[in-house]
Amino acid sequence: MKMYVCGHTNPDSDSICAAISLSYLKNQLGDEATPARQGDINPESRFILDKFDIEEPILKTAYKNENLFIVDYSDLAQAPKDIKEANILGIVDHHKLGDITTPTPLECWIRPVGCSNTIIKEMFDYYKVDIPKNLAGIMLCAILSDTVIYKSPTCTEEDIKATEELAKIAEVEDIKALGMEMFLVKSAVKGATPRELVTRDYKDFDMSGKKVGIGQLEVVDLSVFDDMIDDLFKDMEALKEEGDRHSILLLLTDIINEGSKLLVISDDESLIEKAFETKLENSMSYLPGVLSRKKQVVPFLEKIFS
Ligand code: MN
Ligand code: MN
Repeated sequence: MKMYVCGHTNPDSDSICAAISLSYLKNQLGDEATPARQGDINPESRFILDKFDIEEPILKTAYKNENLFIVDYSDLAQAPKDIKEANILGIVDHHKLGDITTPTPLECWIRPVGCSNTIIKEMFDYYKVDIPKNLAGIMLCAILSDTVIYKSPTCTEEDIKATEELAKIAEVEDIKALGMEMFLVKSAVKGATPRELVTRDYKDFDMSGKKVGIGQLEVVDLSVFDDMIDDLFKDMEALKEEGDRHSILLLLTDIINEGSKLLVISDDESLIEKAFETKLENSMSYLPGVLSRKKQVVPFLEKIFS
């Protein structure tokens, strides 16, 4: 069957690499799958694709009357605008179950692991399809990115096992060194505009009817943001107005010291303080140990907003 495989808006490396890896698997199984993306390729994903010499997914944002396999999300807020007119064939995801629904049965691979590419690795095993060397390389990088080189609380034994098997295929000897090389690329924020940074890894969430946007920048040293805080706040304020949002949160995550500096623009800062049991000073707070938006940020906000 002809289909597109595509991840969420503002694609991260998991969404980009999962579109490619799942398309490859589907094609091996006799389908005609094309990897697609809903937005620009970020510097980290660019590094991964260049390193393993793999072509980028096509840019495609409209799917009316098309067959679509979605990867790395199941929330309408992260879907193409016309998704209700698309024919959704299946979902591979590792987030909380979202609000996408279908009129017909679909193929679902949703599990609480650290990365969509871990699930896709297991799909290759299930169908007994070999993974080519370069494809294994980008799948490995996607897992290292999503699990912050195993440091994220979302990382599971299955993710570690998948990376070890993929590294063998990709002939990567030092997995953590590859991960650090990637995060150093990700940490290069100089020269990027505040809007590029706020939205580089950004998601909107519907929290009991309130629109809440959460961005995250993972770096090896928070001092890269020292001169940028005011500009980041200004842009968050603009973004909040543009989208009629209740709150915008930006997490500046230090992957070495394992914690996040939280920047908040909100109609009600006290709600955010309550969610994280913290005090905001100049609309900022440091949250020790917080690395994962999915596991350590979103659930606490949803609870407070409900
Ligand atoms: Mn993602
Ligand atoms: Mn993911």
